[in-house]
Amino acid sequence: AHSSKVGVFVRIRPTANFSKDLIECLPDGQTVNIHHKKDSRRPQDSRKSQLSSFRLEGVLQDVSQGELYARVCQRVVLGALDGYNGTLMCFGQTGAGKTYTMTGSTESYKQRGIIPRALQEEVENRTEHAFSVYLSYLEIYNETLVDLLSSLQGSPHPSPRGMVVSEEPGRGVFIRGLSIHPVHSEEEALNLLFEGEMNRIIESHALNRNSSRSHCIFTVHIESRSRTLSDAKYITSKLNLVDLAGSERLGKTGSEGRMFKEAMYINKSLSFLEQAILALADRRRDHVTFRQTKLTHALKDSLGGNCNTVLVANIYGEAAQIEETLSTLRFASRMMCVRTSPAVNQHMDP
Ligand code: ADP
Repeated sequence: AHSSKVGVFVRIRPTANFSKDLIECLPDGQTVNIHHKKDSRRPQDSRKSQLSSFRLEGVLQDVSQGELYARVCQRVVLGALDGYNGTLMCFGQTGAGKTYTMTGSTESYKQRGIIPRALQEEVENRTEHAFSVYLSYLEIYNETLVDLLSSLQGSPHPSPRGMVVSEEPGRGVFIRGLSIHPVHSEEEALNLLFEGEMNRIIESHALNRNSSRSHCIFTVHIESRSRTLSDAKYITSKLNLVDLAGSERLGKTGSEGRMFKEAMYINKSLSFLEQAILALADRRRDHVTFRQTKLTHALKDSLGGNCNTVLVANIYGEAAQIEETLSTLRFASRMMCVRTSPAVNQHMDP
């Protein structure tokens, strides 16, 4: 299998208070420079400013939902139709635009995000070819796996059978016990997406928690039996659309009980994600462990395996958020070094 770089893009959330003095987007469209105070905790340094420069595949400022999809996502979505696994992931602090990017705004059709556009593409193509499309929607909250579409078979709760992240040769990583649902039209697919999102909201209200405190993986499973292949051959692929929990580091003081527990689990899963990426980026380390958390295990193929992967790092353009912006950009630039090995998933009927 050939090796492929993870595509890493930064999207800046539009704001009236965009801080040009701090955030400089270079005309090459790939570089963002952050001019920040050396160390705000050390008063003697506060006048000196330091430059951190990040070079990524693209810096997206004032880019519409349609342009973002065309530039960043379409290649991966179309690849999934050819049998390559794909992952599109959003990372960043709460409020920076991850859900807007992934799902979009319900206010207008033009503002729909990556998931509805990808669904349209997959399902539209389905009618021309011999494709079957199935959907699943997984939430990871405090290391618990929740099936957001299980209400179709009961209630939106952890599956009674219990779900586990599993791996099989030839199949890669999958979630045993997660329900998957066939769809035959764009409308049916969007209804399922909506259903899952409602369940996420209902469930977070019932359990009295904030929905930005969980990771969500919406997966489009594709199976294709092309007429040009012999009858026994078929191709499968998965397109993972991932909305990660807010990456902001919550202080250990001040938050207690539920919030402390949530912060602890998110910090843990995102730090293991960063560690896995650091290890992947450093080729000398030949062993990367993904099993420490459900998130890294579920994303194993997306990070180091058989997958075309794209990361959108969402940032605020405001001075008040500069520390989180820096940490998001550091994560993004580490991700630039990660390589995956996409290959067509071809199978034979037994
Ligand atoms: P997150 O999922 O990262 O917590 P959201 O996607 O919920 O953040 O975004 C927070 C708010 O900002 C929402 O009201 C969203 O509509 C708005 N927003 C985010 N990004 C954009 C954008 N690129 N264009 C217009 N509005 C945006």
